[in-house]
Amino acid sequence: MGENRKSVLRIALQKSGRLAEGSDQLLTKCGIKVKSRSNQLVTCDDSFGIEFLFVRDDDIPGMIESGVCDIGIFGENLLREYVSRSVVQVSKLETILPLGFSKCRLSLAAPKEFPYSKLSDLNGKVIATSYPNTLRNFLNASNIEANVVTMHGSVELACHIGVADLICDLVSSGATLYENALKEILTISQSEAVLVQAQAPLNSYKSKLVEKLVLRIKGVQAASKSKYIMLHLERDKIDQLAGILPGCETPTILDLKGFPTKVAVHVVSQEDVFWETVENLKGIGASSLLVMPIDKMIS
Ligand code: ATP
Ligand code: ZN
Repeated sequence: MGENRKSVLRIALQKSGRLAEGSDQLLTKCGIKVKSRSNQLVTCDDSFGIEFLFVRDDDIPGMIESGVCDIGIFGENLLREYVSRSVVQVSKLETILPLGFSKCRLSLAAPKEFPYSKLSDLNGKVIATSYPNTLRNFLNASNIEANVVTMHGSVELACHIGVADLICDLVSSGATLYENALKEILTISQSEAVLVQAQAPLNSYKSKLVEKLVLRIKGVQAASKSKYIMLHLERDKIDQLAGILPGCETPTILDLKGFPTKVAVHVVSQEDVFWETVENLKGIGASSLLVMPIDKMIS
């Protein structure tokens, strides 16, 4: 095990929950096969030299800090809560890369009838949350004196069962708040899944693997936003392309045999291509239009 730990990069992933699917999808696109997480704590992808540890997300920050694993994927909300768990605590974790999935926000919410117009309305109130450190920091910074009650689940029920006046919880669509007759009052912070490592440096073998992983993730992220576009166009309309396709790199212009006034244009658009864009391209006379997804993009 000791020898193994030196030569295998260990990544901690959430066993099941809102981060699991996004993590698996991202790693799969990076060419890393995440083997069944159903009944095993540890599996590995030998070709990449990576070992997966499937745990509750709450356990991941501590496991990275203590060196049980090298990197991990969890929400920024949890990272913020973990590093602010004590005022004297110096963060020993750092974000390598934001990953763009499991997006949500930490918000204050209250029963619909709760009268709220300004921050000071929170003075003297009881607020239930699973993020007490983050909430306390926010309240301190806002000069609010409120009572923070920590709950580890079902926070959305706290007001109805008389535990608290308000809650501070994660929100994405707002459906859970709506179902519980709660209204969102204020957003404290935004969150998405992040790739995290310890500040203490990894050995050179592992840090090269992390670099390789980061390069692949960046390639996947760049590709997912971009499209490869091919079209035919009158040569004198080429200058109008830039206005229609913002964020596209220098187009490749090719002659079209038998059509001296026309060219074929190949271009990578760094933004998603919507129907309006396609219609605008048609508007300047583009034909034979192809918009294709890009699998990997390495600059
Ligand atoms: P575990 O059993 O691993 O402790 P959990 O119940 O703490 O799971 P999930 O509900 O799966 O966790 O949420 C994990 C993370 O997903 C959150 O910390 C947050 O970063 C993110 N997330 C995204 N959208 C939401 C949402 N609507 N509600 C809660 N978390 C969300
Ligand atoms: Zn959790």
